Amino acid sequence: MNKIVLIGCGNVGMSYAYALLNQSTSVNELVLVDLNKERIIGEVMDLNHCLAFAPNKIDIKAGDYSDCKDATIVVIAAGANQEKGETRMDLIEKNSKIFKNIVNKVMKSGFNGIFLVATNPLDVMTYLTYKYSNLSPNKIIGTGTSLDTARLRYMIAEKIKISPKNVHAYVIGEHGDSEFVPWSNANIGLQNIKDFLTDEELEKIYLDVKNAAYEIINRKGATYYGIGMCLVRITNAILNNENSIITVSTYDENNDIFIGLPAVINKKGVKDKIYVNLNEKETIKLKNSIYAIKEAILKL
Ligand code: NAD
Repeated sequence: MNKIVLIGCGNVGMSYAYALLNQSTSVNELVLVDLNKERIIGEVMDLNHCLAFAPNKIDIKAGDYSDCKDATIVVIAAGANQEKGETRMDLIEKNSKIFKNIVNKVMKSGFNGIFLVATNPLDVMTYLTYKYSNLSPNKIIGTGTSLDTARLRYMIAEKIKISPKNVHAYVIGEHGDSEFVPWSNANIGLQNIKDFLTDEELEKIYLDVKNAAYEIINRKGATYYGIGMCLVRITNAILNNENSIITVSTYDENNDIFIGLPAVINKKGVKDKIYVNLNEKETIKLKNSIYAIKEAILKL
């Protein structure tokens, strides 16, 4: 019996719910929770009207925090999103207060499953979920740089006309302005990416990935389909016990932060982290990212 409780049913939350309904998943029950009670009643009606044409039957209902008691995964997409010109870190004050309240209420229900966090600033919110919940760190997963990695693969695939499924490249670090691509580890099939693209081309792709959210927000006010799909990807990796490698925000015990790194995801949450062999320049970039997250946490 796989039960998901979704807390925060705005653009991101509902993109996740809709993507979940459209894919063949092993989710049996989906419960929507939001401050805006009327909206979730409407959302539940709308989603239920998809079921006749959906690949699976899912019980969908509006609920509250008591529903978290026996949930397999609690997904949090609640909170403020970036306005034009705002960085993800600018949301820290508002969203940290919201998270204290939400995580405490979830834990009061007796929840002992896996938290999956999408709210920004992502690595800080994932860390706060860990601290407020007191659950083991393997049960706390942030979407991390999974969306950035999906954007990277799409852009490289378009440029060299190879399926994104054969682009083995990752964005790691903070889900934010200090994220980076360890190009020394990036391959197309079995061949290093530098055999396909020049340093200038790689730098342009990196900047386009890093700035993608700003570009989308300038045009349509928010980004949500991509992250909805990433949340489904991680949900499936958990529920199907996949042992899949995804760049999620995971616990770095040496620095006491959460940060985007390739991790093995299965029904226990994060099973292992994959060691990344970085060159000297990339090591400095990772340190910068660790510093950016740590500084944000210390300011709280
Ligand atoms: P939104 O404003 O559309 O939705 C937010 C929802 O949260 C609203 O429905 C609101 O009622 C609800 N909410 C607020 N406080 C709450 C509380 N205390 N309890 C329950 N519900 C509460 O925003 P959105 O576009 O869906 O964005 C949500 C978050 O996701 C933002 O922080 C945004 O920056 C982030 N985001 C993350 C990624 C990523 O890659 N991780 C990508 C896009 C957006």
